[in-house]
Amino acid sequence: MKLTVVGCSGSFPSAESACSSYLVEADGFRLLLDMGNGALGELQRHCGLYDLDAIFLSHLHADHCIDMCAYFVARYYRHDGGRCAPIPVYGPEGTEHRLTTAYADTPTASSMSEVFDFHTVKPSTFDVGPFTVHTERVAHPVEAYGIRVEHGGKSLTYSGDTGITPALDELARDTDLFLCEAAFTHGKEDIPDLHLNGREAGETATRAGARRLVLTHIPPWTDPQVNLADARAVFDGPVELAAPRVSYEI
Ligand SMILES: [Zn+2]
Ligand SMILES: [Zn+2]
Repeated sequence: MKLTVVGCSGSFPSAESACSSYLVEADGFRLLLDMGNGALGELQRHCGLYDLDAIFLSHLHADHCIDMCAYFVARYYRHDGGRCAPIPVYGPEGTEHRLTTAYADTPTASSMSEVFDFHTVKPSTFDVGPFTVHTERVAHPVEAYGIRVEHGGKSLTYSGDTGITPALDELARDTDLFLCEAAFTHGKEDIPDLHLNGREAGETATRAGARRLVLTHIPPWTDPQVNLADARAVFDGPVELAAPRVSYEI
């Protein structure tokens, strides 16, 4: 499978990157993980507006889902051929209400469901197109999920937003590519059950036995090189910083 970083800025967009959004492709199927601020524009560098097959929202903080409001416009008011058929959207309890409220002025209370087929995520294992996905609750102030995507004997694990949690260690067990958030700086920010720092991301990767670590969700006010060095100090495998428009073959 192929992973492309659409956006990787943490909490708010940077001049260089949209917020969280990652495109996962295999067998011609396109699964988007998160659609944060600015992601819909960036996405169009990688595929057509209507080429997505499914969307997974890790949680309902704006930096992971708010461009779904813009995507609603593109699908509901489509100019070349009428309204789009509903695309599967996997998200936490209340996703439809959250997006409808954020949009503020949908034609009816159920308009979102005319173009999005909402599925409520719980910790579970299920198929999405050619992928087998595993979801686990992670440690964040709102209901939030990490996701493991498997295809052809390979796996990608995305932490979503989380503090330290055994659930993430298990989800990322022996994973081929671990896309892990590192929003905080070791020694500077220390708030439990919110975000990981670079060191904690590296320690999680070590505990999990991940083969490769890609740090993401680093906010513009944080020095990414510090987080990168902190992760490398505690994880023996390859570590790099996520960057927009970079792809990985897994
Ligand atoms: Zn976030
Ligand atoms: Zn969050």
